[in-house]
Amino acid sequence: MNIIFLGSAGVGKGTNANRVAMHYSIPTISSGDLLRAEVAASSAIGKKAKAYMDKGVLVPNEIIDIMIKNRLQKPDCKNGFILDGYPRNLEQAKLLDKSMKIDTVINYFASTKVILERLGGRMSCSKCDKGYNINTIKKPKEAGICDECGGKLVQRDDDKPDAIKKRLDVYKKQVKPVIEYYKKQNILTDIDSSYGYNELHKIIDPTIKAIDSA
Ligand SMILES: [Zn+2]
Repeated sequence: MNIIFLGSAGVGKGTNANRVAMHYSIPTISSGDLLRAEVAASSAIGKKAKAYMDKGVLVPNEIIDIMIKNRLQKPDCKNGFILDGYPRNLEQAKLLDKSMKIDTVINYFASTKVILERLGGRMSCSKCDKGYNINTIKKPKEAGICDECGGKLVQRDDDKPDAIKKRLDVYKKQVKPVIEYYKKQNILTDIDSSYGYNELHKIIDPTIKAIDSA
């Protein structure tokens, strides 16, 4: 069961990936986490990647591809895996196809309004950096004040609606050809995740159904 989960920030993909991975006893692999781990471990590939990151440029697709492939060779992937948010562009998808058969791709989507509600409520403490979300159960006990240290909560520029919309546009443009690529192979299922924050578990059943019927 080689599975890919696609979807922008705010679609509930990550939380859901962990639950579905537990259901099948397979690992969840995120390219971002993998990259950070390789860089932190100063592995050969991590050093190569870091050279690009230090220059402030994107790590080339080929390097990420090697990193992902090395990870997928590990014994815990022998029954399958969930790639969480990878591939992000068409070149990565094509590189991945050269060495790995992908069985099913789940593409989560939600309305911009819902995503803005989820992501636009993010606040963080100006003193200790603890994260909150005023639109969810992660809201602070007292509005605008950190539960932990009493610091003032602020919204990062990145979490302001215009910045979120811009990020969503960039994501959609990049991932559109990836979606079309897997649609042509008849292995992609779209799942609407436009639920309230506390109802996001509703996307698990359709996900498992799609995977089981693949
Ligand atoms: Zn604080």
